[in-house]
Amino acid sequence: MNRENNIILEKILNLRDYVQNLEDIKEEIINHFKNLKDLDDSTRKIWTSNVKEFFYSTVSAWEVLTTITEGKPNLKKIDDSKSFLYAARNRLSQIISQLKIFQSRKSSLLIEKVGVSFKECWDAFWSNFNDLLPKEEFVKPIERIIKISDLEYNLPCSVCSKTAVKFKIGYGRLDEKESLVFRGITLETSLRIELVNILFKILEEDDLLGAHNFMKKYHSPEGVDAYCPECDKIYCWEHYNAWEEYDDGFYDCTYGECPKGHKRMIDD
Ligand SMILES: [Zn+2]
Ligand SMILES: [Zn+2]
Repeated sequence: MNRENNIILEKILNLRDYVQNLEDIKEEIINHFKNLKDLDDSTRKIWTSNVKEFFYSTVSAWEVLTTITEGKPNLKKIDDSKSFLYAARNRLSQIISQLKIFQSRKSSLLIEKVGVSFKECWDAFWSNFNDLLPKEEFVKPIERIIKISDLEYNLPCSVCSKTAVKFKIGYGRLDEKESLVFRGITLETSLRIELVNILFKILEEDDLLGAHNFMKKYHSPEGVDAYCPECDKIYCWEHYNAWEEYDDGFYDCTYGECPKGHKRMIDD
């Protein structure tokens, strides 16, 4: 193993300090919830498990990276680590909305503290991801809409080429009959099979805006979640910088902000 790899592995081990820091704050928040007199037991249980999930997602993000032993970039492991980190960030957003319900000096302090510590942890992780990823630029997708077969079309991220959206004829999770299945970066949904003719004609014409408008009309005002109308481009979760927002502890919506800084609600 060469010197450069040793340095990277050492940096990964150093992430432990950031994770440890969050463990202390996890305990503080759980104790705070324990002492809230107006909180009923079942809500306390849920909130406490949210805090644990937040912390253990961060631990998992770290553990995945520690299994990189050969010093070789391992894209799958980096991807898994990112997913755990995104899960932790979404859970934190939920916990902060819970802390805000019973406002006090203590809750404000905890929000501030966990926010700062998680930001430091997040930045340290991303510095590692950047070290571990191959240095060459992403391969830009040649096509905006890829026809996989007569039954399926994929829309790749315009930055990294990863598949961000799938439209296909098939069965969604709860479908009893064949449907037009949409799978985006925030949700999966099934539409009437009869709509296939309209949609596939749009996709054949390489019309991303058309596909977005189709989803607006037949599904929800957010349209294709991975699509930035101002750029007329598709972005994956990472490159749309997507994050979930919570209100009083309940899921509210997901926002995305594309690399050009265009921000919009992508799921409600
Ligand atoms: Zn991407
Ligand atoms: Zn944009």
